[in-house]
Amino acid sequence: MFSSGDKVTKILIVEDEADIIDYLTIYCEAEGYKVMVSADGPTALNLFRNEQPDLVLLDLMLPGLDGLEVCRRIRSVSNVPIIMVTARREEVDKLLGLETGADDYLTKPFSPRELMARIRVIFRRLDNMSAEFKAELSETPSPKRPKIMKLGRLLINLDTREVSYDDTEVPTLTIKEFELLVTLSRQPGRVYSKSDLEESLYGGDYLLESRAIGVHISNLRNKLPNPRLIETVYGIGYKLSREAYSAGKL
Ligand code: CA
Repeated sequence: MFSSGDKVTKILIVEDEADIIDYLTIYCEAEGYKVMVSADGPTALNLFRNEQPDLVLLDLMLPGLDGLEVCRRIRSVSNVPIIMVTARREEVDKLLGLETGADDYLTKPFSPRELMARIRVIFRRLDNMSAEFKAELSETPSPKRPKIMKLGRLLINLDTREVSYDDTEVPTLTIKEFELLVTLSRQPGRVYSKSDLEESLYGGDYLLESRAIGVHISNLRNKLPNPRLIETVYGIGYKLSREAYSAGKL
């Protein structure tokens, strides 16, 4: 749906350094993406609204409105994948933080190949997810019926990506948060190691620093009505708590 078929995949590059814009554009166009460029925050938001890009590559330091604020504003209306770019490593937690809601990040200087690999992983995961959902959907007697995972008190709508718990709607999850929850819910109670989750989220194509998984887990927890619905199994990883998939209230 994103990287295949007739639809052109659009990437919005928000960056104020002309030479970086130039080479990113060359690499993105070589992969067949349509590129839109903004050198400042306010223009980026306008372009985002008018063009509905499939992915946003967002520099942190920008004139007008900084990358964090641009990210927040886009995230408040959209689940579009956002890759943040920063020159400072120590900002990583903030970039992936709950308020900002970026999906991934790169620290400058980065190799365009690494960036292209990450973009491909994001689009392939989206493609795989929609293909999986379509496959699951075709097995059900009524294709019109929404594809719902129901685990006790937790309801996950795989079509609309809406999640509710005890009939209370969970705030919109980012792609990574949603994938984490779906992965943990596929085998409730199973302990997933960080590398299991990385494999599931990133396809094992590249080695992501494990802290990113921890940050996405923490963001997901903060959106759930009770952060303990996802348990940490010390020294091993994470699992869905029994409370989440048991039928009644404890
Ligand atoms: Ca900049």
